[in-house]
Amino acid sequence: MEKFFRFIENGLDIVVTTKSCGNMLYQRGGRDVWKNYLDFSKEAIIPLDKIVRVVLKNGSEFIKVNNSHGGEGVYPEKQNLQGFDGLITTEKNLYLGITTADCYPVIIHDKRNSFLGLAHCGWRGIVEGLEVKILKELIKMGSSLDNIQIIYGPGICGNCYVQHDQYLQDIFINKYNYPEEIIKPQGKFYSVDIKKASQHNLIKAGFRGSFIDLKICNFCDERLFSVRREGKDTGRMLNLVCMI
Ligand SMILES: [Zn+2]
Repeated sequence: MEKFFRFIENGLDIVVTTKSCGNMLYQRGGRDVWKNYLDFSKEAIIPLDKIVRVVLKNGSEFIKVNNSHGGEGVYPEKQNLQGFDGLITTEKNLYLGITTADCYPVIIHDKRNSFLGLAHCGWRGIVEGLEVKILKELIKMGSSLDNIQIIYGPGICGNCYVQHDQYLQDIFINKYNYPEEIIKPQGKFYSVDIKKASQHNLIKAGFRGSFIDLKICNFCDERLFSVRREGKDTGRMLNLVCMI
């Protein structure tokens, strides 16, 4: 099986590792992680010092990075970018990276100005509006909504994210007033469409473009890791994006 999926999309190189690449998250343990990065780098022809990966916190902080951050989150001894769930760069050929296993990597790209953002969007990041924070930062930097494209990488789809208690329903509908279409009854349970919730945030923030969706559900597709299918100790995929 291939070690990664790759999409060359409108000026971007988007790469998602599969299970056969192994776990890509040091913080989940496993001493194979370094070897997985080495093998991946060789096969994808991406130098390790051209990747910047943040250590996630499930929050809504982001960091601006440049070539001087290359290799962060990749070399075992370089794990300094902790507590961030998003990245922004203006550098071409620098890969922004996050690990996931159900949450969505959301790519926010201004091709004209060469601005690139990547957000780790699980339900916590979404209710805190991380993708909107990154969109607004790009606009502050000089972008305009018309120049921006937004791409959803692999994450858990609305049919697969089935919740057995009221918890998320209370948060999305009662606390944050999301439209009810993101929560759908499924038997005596209900399903949650976090991608739709994230898109709702962006539309509310004024984004009028169309969303590009790679249409991969990591829960449906067993070539990918899923925490909800396999438990929290399973591996994590590495999601990378760079401007080429
Ligand atoms: Zn699915």
